Amino acid sequence: MDGNKRIVVKVGSNTLTNDSGAIDRRYIASLADQLAELNKAGHEVVLVSSGAIAAGREFLGLSRRPSDMATLQASASIGQVGLIETYAAEFGRKGTTIGQVLLTRADTENEVSYGHARDTFEKLLELSAIPIVNENDTVAIDEICFGDNDTLAALVARMIRADMVVILTDVAGLYDQDPNINPDAKVVSCLTEVGEDLLAETSTGGGAQSLGSGGMRSKLQAAKVLLEADIATVLCDGRQANVIADAVEGNPQGTIICSEGFREKLELLNSRA
Ligand code: GLU
Repeated sequence: MDGNKRIVVKVGSNTLTNDSGAIDRRYIASLADQLAELNKAGHEVVLVSSGAIAAGREFLGLSRRPSDMATLQASASIGQVGLIETYAAEFGRKGTTIGQVLLTRADTENEVSYGHARDTFEKLLELSAIPIVNENDTVAIDEICFGDNDTLAALVARMIRADMVVILTDVAGLYDQDPNINPDAKVVSCLTEVGEDLLAETSTGGGAQSLGSGGMRSKLQAAKVLLEADIATVLCDGRQANVIADAVEGNPQGTIICSEGFREKLELLNSRA
């Protein structure tokens, strides 16, 4: 699309980890390459990244995700160090500066901390740095319990008045039927509303469900909040080539959830292409 964009990219734990549940450094390297290119092209980019618990679990040699909250929080505390070091190294390779931002939902509800956080984001973006955001899991557990940072990404996008949120996930988008049951299920390319009926029939976790797979409900809830603020959301497979650039350029892979007006602009743009 025309002009430089302000984009929030959210990457979930499943997308950031390999089959054995360890942080996938090659994937982080490719994410850094893509985001650094957008940053160099003049777009403003904020990355909301999960993966702290997964990184901590790996560091502690735990064979599975801890089940008690204090160990989850301690894993996040330990893992966040390694996670941000990995991002710093991979963005550093591209000559791109990053800043770490740890936030909670309460921070976005308090007028004073909201103002401080917004000012920090604005300055980081002015400095061409890429803020890398995670929940502050020491003092909040919202995203550990539900949503894997989908809600946090929406709150950040509203705070900084982003143009678009790109949610990188491990499925191709929102399906019209459960692809695990029906092989003819198709990815819905565009939605202009997120109704309560759709939310109700969408699962909070992976496995059998009527629409899509893998925690689609929290993504749709985030998209609904964003739609109300006229911010477009793209749900896409984070492992596909050029998936972020395609979304920013107005030719999104996966599912875009946006207003009628935004959709008309996209159609116009693609009919000219
Ligand atoms: N803040 C958590 C993390 O970075 C959220 C994701 C999760 O619950 O695994 O790991």
